[in-house]
Amino acid sequence: MHEASIAATIIERLGTHPELAGRPIRIVRLRVGRLSTVVPANLEFMFGVLVEGTPLAGARLEIEEVPARAVCEECGAPFAVDDPVFLCPACGSGKVRLESGRELTIDNVETD
Ligand SMILES: [Zn+2]
Repeated sequence: MHEASIAATIIERLGTHPELAGRPIRIVRLRVGRLSTVVPANLEFMFGVLVEGTPLAGARLEIEEVPARAVCEECGAPFAVDDPVFLCPACGSGKVRLESGRELTIDNVETD
């Protein structure tokens, strides 16, 4: 399962981070692009399951969904994207550049 391996990676990275050693982590904030393949609810659930028995036990995952945005390279129109397959809504061009929407990044970590 995709979300399980992502959750395991987050727990491993933070659990072995030298700056965080010995500091109980309460909240891990994640930014997930709307066009990423991650299902936030599944990721939160898997994190909660896998975190038990690790140095991060008791930590909670909070996910902020980042809207997907693109810019048309033909007419310059900026627009929001809801679907992984899209054209410029202004001119119909397929030459579009995705500006955000695929990210999966740790925004910050809250410790005690
Ligand atoms: Zn266009």
